[in-house]
Amino acid sequence: MTGRPVCGGTGPPCTGNLPSGEGWNGVEGRERKTIMDGDFRTSFVRDHSHPKSHPALVLNADYRPLSYYPLSLWPWQEAVKAVFLDRVNIIAEYEETVRSPSMEIKIPSVVVLKDYVRPQKRVAFTRFNLFLRDEFCCQYCGSKGDLTFDHVVPRARGGITSWENVVAACSRCNLRKGSRPLHQSGLALRKPPRQPGAEEMRNMGRKFPPNYLHDSWMDFLYWDAELEE
Ligand SMILES: [Zn+2]
Repeated sequence: MTGRPVCGGTGPPCTGNLPSGEGWNGVEGRERKTIMDGDFRTSFVRDHSHPKSHPALVLNADYRPLSYYPLSLWPWQEAVKAVFLDRVNIIAEYEETVRSPSMEIKIPSVVVLKDYVRPQKRVAFTRFNLFLRDEFCCQYCGSKGDLTFDHVVPRARGGITSWENVVAACSRCNLRKGSRPLHQSGLALRKPPRQPGAEEMRNMGRKFPPNYLHDSWMDFLYWDAELEE
């Protein structure tokens, strides 16, 4: 291998071409997709948590997963790229290899970032995070399917869209509540809605592991929870 490409800019694994623009082959003929643009901490793609895509678990420099939900997984192409960019160390590998015209490597199954990425303290107010805060449950009846968002103080009555005034609600409860204030609706909230902390969301995320978990990831998942016991 010659001329490891230099990645412009600073920060954790960034985008860039594969070494010498080589094409890597070995695992399906998948479209190569860049998911490290922008804030990569939030751009893990859930459909990569499938054995066929040989995803790599991405650990922060402290050996904790960069993200629990979605679990920080890179498709193999990104993991191989990060190895070449010298941004990660390989901790565990799959049996399968990938080849470029000039070399062959085993596909990494666990990688650890060389530079520590400080976790974000602020939890972004997004639809996804709101559902996660509410554990994907209707905050009135507790059911799990058919979720919508409900303004506790209806918008028509001046209710704003905020952590404190929006909850996950099934469409039945949402319809039942309509634009009535809570006390007139006959419904009750299971817990008062509030802005969650980053640690709280991290713990929440652990409750929702992806369908597929590779054996080599297990040493790095949930371990800090076990230590607390
Ligand atoms: Zn409900």
